[in-house]
Amino acid sequence: MSTNIIAIDGPAGSGKSTVARALADTLGWSFLDTGAMYRAVTCEAMYQGVDMKDDDALGTLASQVQIVTLPRVSVNGRDVQDQLRSDEVNTAVSLVAANPKVRAAMVDRQREFAAIQESGTVVEGRDITTVVFPNATLKVFLTASLEERSRRRDDESEHSVARRDHADYSRLVSPLRQADDALILDTTGRSIEEVVGEIIQCLKNIDSK
Ligand code: C5P
Repeated sequence: MSTNIIAIDGPAGSGKSTVARALADTLGWSFLDTGAMYRAVTCEAMYQGVDMKDDDALGTLASQVQIVTLPRVSVNGRDVQDQLRSDEVNTAVSLVAANPKVRAAMVDRQREFAAIQESGTVVEGRDITTVVFPNATLKVFLTASLEERSRRRDDESEHSVARRDHADYSRLVSPLRQADDALILDTTGRSIEEVVGEIIQCLKNIDSK
């Protein structure tokens, strides 16, 4: 068991997943994409025909559903990888993620996942530095211009990215925000290697203290 955690938050397209995966590979740590978990719950709610505005029904679904995120995302044994970034899921996921019961169920699973890893874990999402792992070894907040972020999300329109950002920043429960002690990195025009290198340097500085 390890308590080494790098927590990464930021808006859509800021580079979280790419940077988190590369960091986990470099360090030999596990990786958890929490956005994929909220997307998986959304896929299952659509599959079961659950009303996205029915808080209790969604909360029950989220607490009972089986989610696997690697190597492909599946829900209750059904592979949903290819649906995760569909327009329907992009539209509904922020509503599902604003549900406090869904969040509570996902946060429990995220903490359980990290607790059983032998190596450290790199976890990325929207509330990882502020709610899920406020005592993480290192907290990072990634940003980038809206133009660059929607360019990176070539399967999602700029309008949809902006709408999701607005919903994630303004929701009542666990809104996206920068932790006071997070390393803030603007990834606009920067390579993955550069950003990963800066985070690893920061981790080394913490280790040598
Ligand atoms: O990271 P990704 O864009 O796949 O996340 C999809 C959505 O899931 C976000 O727009 C947000 O509404 C929700 N999310 C969240 N908390 C997280 C990760 C994702 O609310 N920790």
